Amino acid sequence: MFSSSRCGNFTWNGTLKGLKTSYGCGGSGAAVERYRPSMAAPSSSGLEVLLSTLQQRHQEAGDIESTLNILNVLDELLSAGTDRRIHYMISKGGSESLLMALLNTVHTLPTNYTLLLPILHLLAKVGHRDRRIGVKAEKAEAVLVMLSLLRQNLKDPRRTTACLYVIQVFCASVSTATLLGKNRALDIVFRLIPTHTTKHIRTVKAAIDALAALLRSKVNCRAAVSKGYISGLLKLFADWHNNDTEREYVHIQRALLHCLDRATRISLGRSALVADGGIELLYQTTQTCMFTRGSLECLVEPAVQLMRKCYPKCPLSLSSDQSVYTFPLPGEPPNPWDVPTSQGDTFEDDSDDDNDDENEDADNKDYEDDLETDLESLRQRPQPDRPLEQLGQYVRLCPELHHDFQELDSCSESEESSDEDSLLNGDSDDRWTRSRTSKSGSRRRSSRISRGSPHFTGCKGHTSSSLSNGHSTPEEDGEQQDMKAKDLHSHCLRSHEEGHSSMVDRLVERFGACIPHHDPRLYAAAAAHTRSIAGYSILAFPDFWGHLPVKSTERMAIRRPNLQRKMVLEDIQRFLCPEDIINKVVFDMEDPSPQSASDHKDSLRFFSNFECGNLRKAVQVRRFEYDLILNADANTSMHHQWFYFEVSGMMANVPYRFNIINCEKTNSQFNYGMQPVLYSVREALEGRPRWLRSGSEICYYRNHFQPGRGERSSCFYTLTFTVTFKHDEDVCYLAYHYPYTYSGLQAHLQMLQRSVDPRKVFFRQQSLCNTLAGNPCPLITITACPTSRKWKNLHQLRNRPCVVLTARVHPGESNASWVMKGSLEFLCSSDPVAQSLREAFIFKIIPMLNPDGVINGTHRCSLTGEDLNRQWKKPDPALSPTIYHTKGFLYYLNSIGRTPLVFCDYHGHSRKKNVFLYGCSVKETLWQSGSSVDTATLKEDPGYRTIPKTLDRIAPAFSFNSCNYLVEKSRASTARVVVWREIGVLRAYTMESTYNGCDQGIYQGMQMGTWELEEMGSKFCQSLLTLRKSAMLYDSKVISHTSLLDDSPLDHKSHTCFVDDEPPCVEEIEYHSPKTSDPPGHDLDAEVSANMYSTDDEDKDKDKEKDKGKDGDKQQSPHCRRTSHSSDLQKSHHHFPPLCRPESLETL
Ligand SMILES: [Zn+2]
Repeated sequence: MFSSSRCGNFTWNGTLKGLKTSYGCGGSGAAVERYRPSMAAPSSSGLEVLLSTLQQRHQEAGDIESTLNILNVLDELLSAGTDRRIHYMISKGGSESLLMALLNTVHTLPTNYTLLLPILHLLAKVGHRDRRIGVKAEKAEAVLVMLSLLRQNLKDPRRTTACLYVIQVFCASVSTATLLGKNRALDIVFRLIPTHTTKHIRTVKAAIDALAALLRSKVNCRAAVSKGYISGLLKLFADWHNNDTEREYVHIQRALLHCLDRATRISLGRSALVADGGIELLYQTTQTCMFTRGSLECLVEPAVQLMRKCYPKCPLSLSSDQSVYTFPLPGEPPNPWDVPTSQGDTFEDDSDDDNDDENEDADNKDYEDDLETDLESLRQRPQPDRPLEQLGQYVRLCPELHHDFQELDSCSESEESSDEDSLLNGDSDDRWTRSRTSKSGSRRRSSRISRGSPHFTGCKGHTSSSLSNGHSTPEEDGEQQDMKAKDLHSHCLRSHEEGHSSMVDRLVERFGACIPHHDPRLYAAAAAHTRSIAGYSILAFPDFWGHLPVKSTERMAIRRPNLQRKMVLEDIQRFLCPEDIINKVVFDMEDPSPQSASDHKDSLRFFSNFECGNLRKAVQVRRFEYDLILNADANTSMHHQWFYFEVSGMMANVPYRFNIINCEKTNSQFNYGMQPVLYSVREALEGRPRWLRSGSEICYYRNHFQPGRGERSSCFYTLTFTVTFKHDEDVCYLAYHYPYTYSGLQAHLQMLQRSVDPRKVFFRQQSLCNTLAGNPCPLITITACPTSRKWKNLHQLRNRPCVVLTARVHPGESNASWVMKGSLEFLCSSDPVAQSLREAFIFKIIPMLNPDGVINGTHRCSLTGEDLNRQWKKPDPALSPTIYHTKGFLYYLNSIGRTPLVFCDYHGHSRKKNVFLYGCSVKETLWQSGSSVDTATLKEDPGYRTIPKTLDRIAPAFSFNSCNYLVEKSRASTARVVVWREIGVLRAYTMESTYNGCDQGIYQGMQMGTWELEEMGSKFCQSLLTLRKSAMLYDSKVISHTSLLDDSPLDHKSHTCFVDDEPPCVEEIEYHSPKTSDPPGHDLDAEVSANMYSTDDEDKDKDKEKDKGKDGDKQQSPHCRRTSHSSDLQKSHHHFPPLCRPESLETL
C-alpha cells in the first residue's frame, strides 16, 4: 500500500511493506522473523538523505513541517525494530545529525518548542544507545547548551523532563558528566527532586535519574558528598517511603536508592552514608519491605546491597596477613616476604569503575590475546634447559630396564631385589623400602613399627580421657561400648615417649579396621617420618582411622532463594547491635592460651595443628555462630581456600553456623550445590568411618572484612555453612574437600606394594628427590614382570612405551589424589584390563608433586610461595626440586628414545563441574584465536583426541565437551604445555576433576565422592587401552573387557562447549538485581515516549493510562494522535513491530 513509487528511492520501503504485510495478515511471527534479517536494509542512501536534511537550518514554515516529518519517520523506524536499527542509524551519524538539529533549533529565535521537543525526545532514545553520545555532544558544544535550556525551562515540567532525559544520556561519558557538574548541574537537578508529592512524577523521576547519571563522575560524587546530598537523598528516601502509603511511587524510591548507590562508589560517600545513619534507615525500611512484600519487594535487594557496600571495612583481627608458617629458602637472605604476590587471582578494586562495558571488552580481549598465535613457538621444540650430561642421574629411575629378574628363575622373594635396587641406586631415603620388606608376618611387623614410631595418647591440655590412662586394657575398661568420641579427640603422637601401651593397637583390636588399602598402624608409622614446618605431633583421626569410600548418592545441596540476603542482613545486624556479638577468640594457632582455658562450656573447641590442617583462628560471634580465619600459604599472605580442622564440644541437633571469612576467589561452587565434608569420630567408631558431604544454608558472598594491614585494596569473601551435629560431645572434622595426606600416600603405597604379586607385577617405589623440607617425593614404577628371563621377554618389557602420570602439584586439590589413588589401585589390581595395561606400558607415576604444600595445609603453593605449576619452563633445582627432577627425568626418557606416549597431570577444578581434560593442539589454538595462519596446510596428529573421546564413552563423570586443547600464553609454564612443547609428548594433558559434581551423564545432579573420583582414576587408565590396541595385538582374554570401550557408550548429555557454568563475576548472580543498575533502554524509551506524547503538566501516570488517546491535541505534533498506540506498544516490549502509518510515509 505504501510502497508507492514516490518512496521508491528509499529502499527500506520494501522492508516496511514486508512488515506491514506480515502484520496485516495476522502478524505471523515466522513472517516477521523472515523479514527481520533485512532490518539493516535501510540503505545508506535513504537514511543519509534523511539525516542530512535533518541537519539543515529550517526557518521556513515548510522546513519545520518536513523536519517534523523526518523526526516522525525516524522515531517510527527506531521503535519498530530491535536495537540493531538504532545502532545502524548511529553508525550513519544519527547522533551527530540530531545534535546539529538541536543546536540549529535552539539558536533560531524564538525557540520553536514544537520542533525542539521531538528532537530532544529522539535524541534521548538514540543517545541512550550511543556509548559515545557524551563525547559527540561535547564536540558539538551541545552540552552546556542543554544545561542552559534546562535552566530556561524549569517552569515547564514537560520541557524540563525532556531536557533531563538528554542530560542523562549525555552523562554516558564521565567527562561530560564532570563538565555538567562543574557548571552547577548537580545543584539544578538536585533541587528538582521534591519530597513526597503526587504531581509531576515523571519530572521527579527524570531528575533523580539525571542525578544518578551525573554521579557517574567521581568528581561529581565528591561534590555531592561535600554538599550533603547523601543526607539529603536519605531524607528524601525516608520521606517518600513513609508518605507513599499507597505504594504508588515505589519506582521513585528505587531511583533514589540508585542515586545513593552511585554516590557511595567513593569511600567518602560510603562513610557519609554511615555517618548520616543510612544503614539504620535502610535496615528499617528493608524490614518493612520484607514484611509487607508486594510492590516493595523490589526495594529490598538494592537496599541490602547498599548496606553491604557501605558497611565499614573491618580488618581481620590478625597480627599479620602473612602466613603463620614461614620457611627459610635455600640460598636466599632471610626475607621470606620478598615473594611476588600476584599469582593469577586479581583482587577487585574498591574504587569505581567508570565504564563496566569497556572493562568487559578488555577482559574478552585479554582472553583472545592469551592464546598463543606464534606458529614458531607453537611448533618449535626449544633447546633443553640443561646439558645432556646431567641426565645420567636419572638412570636409576628406570629400574625395570636394568633389572635382571633373577627371582623369576629362583622364585625367590622380592625384597631382595628391592634392597638390591636401593643399594644399586644409592637411594638415601629408602627407610620405607627397608622397614617394609620384612616378611616376618604381621605380628613382628607391627611390633617393629610401634617400636620406632608413635604412641597415641591423650594430649596434654585436652580433656583427660580413658585413653590417656595408657596402662588400662580394653577389658579393664568395663563398658567398652561406652567409649566416647570425645575421648578420642586428642591424638597425640609422641614419637619418642615410651611407657604407654600402644593406643593404636588397642583401638584397632577393639574396633577393627575394615578399610581396603588402609592400615592405621602403618599410617601412624608413616606420619612419624613426615616433616612439617610446625612439627606436627598429632594425627587427625580421619587420616589415621581411614575413610571408607561408598558409592555416593549425595545430591547437590538445594539453595534457598534469597539466602545471600539473609546472610548479609545477619552480618549487618553485627554493625547495628555490636553489643549482641560475643567476639570471643576460641582458637588461635599463634596463641594457644585460649585453647587451654577451662571456660569452654559454651563454646566449641577447634584444632588444626595436624598434617594438612588449615584453620588459623576461630572467633565465637554468637552463641552458635563462629567466624573462622584460614592461614595463608606458607611464605605468602594469600591463597586462603583449603580448610581442614577438628571441632568438638558440640551439642547434638543444634544448628551451628560457620563463616570462613577470608576466602579470596570471587565465586565458588559452594554457590552451586557443593557442600563441605564432615567426618564424625563417633560415627567412625560405630562402624561408619567416612567423610560425608554436609552443611546447609551454604552461601559464598563478598563480606566487609579486609586484610589486617590493608596493604592491598582487596576484599574477602565469606563461605558460610550451617552444620547440625548428630551426637553430643562428638569430635568432628570439617574440610573443604576429602583430605588426602602425604603420610596417607606413603602408607597407601606400602599397602599397594604388599598387595601385588611380585612375580607378576613389577612395582617399585623410589624417591625422585627430596623436597625443600626434606620429604622424599615418591616415584612409582608399575609394569608387568616378564614371563621369563628369556631375551624375547626382557626385550618386550624394555620396549614398552612409557605413560607418565603426576598429581597434586596444587595441595588444595585433594580430589586429584583420590583420582590418583584410583589409578594406582587399578594398575595394581588383578583386573585383566590392568594386566593388559601392565603388559603394554611402563607406568611412571609421581603421585604428589608438592608434598610440602600438602603437609602444611597450603592451598596453591610450595614453601617458596610460588605456584609449582608455573615453574616448568625453567624450574629452579633448589627451589622447585620436584618439578626440576620430573622434567629432568622426562628429558632423560626423551634422550634414550623413550619419550612418553601419554603424560597426564591430575588437578582439581573449583569453578566447573564434571571431569575434563586440557590438551594441546596447534590447529585448535590457531582456529580459536582467529589467526590468519592457513591451518589447512598444517599437519597435526589428531591422536590427542583419542583419550578424551574414549573417556567420554566409559567414564560417567567425564565430559568431552568441557575439554579443550588450546595453548595459552599464561599457561606456557604449566606441566601440560611444557611436556608437550619441550619433551614432545603429543598426548600431554591436565585432567581437571571438579570439587563439586556433575551436570551431565548418569551422575547429573550428584556431588562427587571419593568412590567416583577413584573410579575416574581407574577409567583414565582403562582408556589407555585404546592406544595399545592400535599399537599391537592383544589376547582374546581381554577382548571381552575392552569391548566396553567400543560398544556401550555412556549417556552423556553434555552441555555447551567451553561455557563455564557460572558467570565470570559473582556480582552477576545475586549481588545486584539487574534493576538496580542502569535501567535498560526500553524503560527510558517508555518514559521518553510518555513525556513526548503527554498533553500537559498535570498528567499522573495512572491518569494517563486512563485517558490515553482521548485528548489528541491540536497544536502538538502529529505524534500525539498515536499516543495510545505507541505507549501500548512500549508496554508490550515490542512483541510486534508497530506499524508505520501510511500517512506518515506519504509525507515523504
Ligand atoms: Zn590445579
